[in-house]
Amino acid sequence: MTQAMTFAAIIVAAGAGTRIGSGPAKQWRMLAGKPVLQWSIEAFTAAGVAEGVVVIPADAGATAQPILAGRPGWRTVPGGATRALSVQAGLAALGVSADTPVLVHDAARPLLKPAHISDLLAALESADAALPALAVADTLRRVTDGATETVSRECLWRAQTPQAARRARLESAYARWSGPGEPTDDAAVVEADGGRIALTPGDAALMKLTYPEDFAMAELLAGKTMTMRIGQGFDAHRWGPGEAVWLCGVQIAHDQTLIGHSDADAGLHALTDALLGALGEGDIGDHFPPTDPQWKGAASDLFLKHAADMVTARGGRILNLDVTLICERPKIKPHRAAMRQRLADLLGLALDQVSVKATTTEGMGFTGRQEGLAAQAVALIEVPT
Ligand code: MG
Repeated sequence: MTQAMTFAAIIVAAGAGTRIGSGPAKQWRMLAGKPVLQWSIEAFTAAGVAEGVVVIPADAGATAQPILAGRPGWRTVPGGATRALSVQAGLAALGVSADTPVLVHDAARPLLKPAHISDLLAALESADAALPALAVADTLRRVTDGATETVSRECLWRAQTPQAARRARLESAYARWSGPGEPTDDAAVVEADGGRIALTPGDAALMKLTYPEDFAMAELLAGKTMTMRIGQGFDAHRWGPGEAVWLCGVQIAHDQTLIGHSDADAGLHALTDALLGALGEGDIGDHFPPTDPQWKGAASDLFLKHAADMVTARGGRILNLDVTLICERPKIKPHRAAMRQRLADLLGLALDQVSVKATTTEGMGFTGRQEGLAAQAVALIEVPT
């Protein structure tokens, strides 16, 4: 056993990651019970990092704050327009000495292990920069103008992060970078500056979360299991005089309105109860008592968001929602697409995770007599076991 070496870490979490789909950027999403970013912070902390900087989007301070709270030695800095500028912002914020190894890591690779870190630190004893790399296993094909050819995978490796170099070496290499283009890789910057690069063993677990389906794979690799929970909700409100009605977060012009203490959006109320039911957390009346004047006329978005935040706080996520509106009028179909989009936007879900349906009761019952409108909903969530 060699004595643990002092090192610093920069986690780059400033990207938008558009391939991951709609919703929050991937570094803030939950993975097996905690935010993606938190996994890397905990891995570096467990390995004895002396100082850590997380480079975040300039407007993400409030989002990052709860993840970094109570972690001495960690702080955030705003990122730049490119990964290279973000890394340099991180370097500038470090207080460690010029010869301290710095590990630059992508937040989107959450499953960092102690061995990855110790391998990199050991490699810096004889190299200017080091990175984990995996041999390419798949046969590769190059496609040019519709023509395709096999490319030999011999000698090809996939570069991963963290990438390590001593602070001053990395800073000067970035300062002297002259292209072409923007560097996407820290080792490449040191290499272009004449540095010697070492490869350490890569790991499938260092996979980069890029597409929505990568989260399911990472959950498996994280070794945590999730349990599915289902909940259902029902709500009804009475029709009264008015000119518009709120349904599933969308306002529809109509010759009546629904009467209620809040905005009487029965669709959102049923969905809120479905989520609370899946969590075993009572019903909407427990959380937002109708006797409380502060909810008078409230936009029901608030209720649904509260229930969704409770799922997130539990380390869980919504898998899908399905709501059925039951009324003779207004016609729901022309507004269904807008309702789905509104719900998806409100909850940071993909459109196919949200369903809005409608039916009449063919003139029967209180909905059929147009005394009121009813809504029922189911929600499927998963939470850490
Ligand atoms: Mg209600």
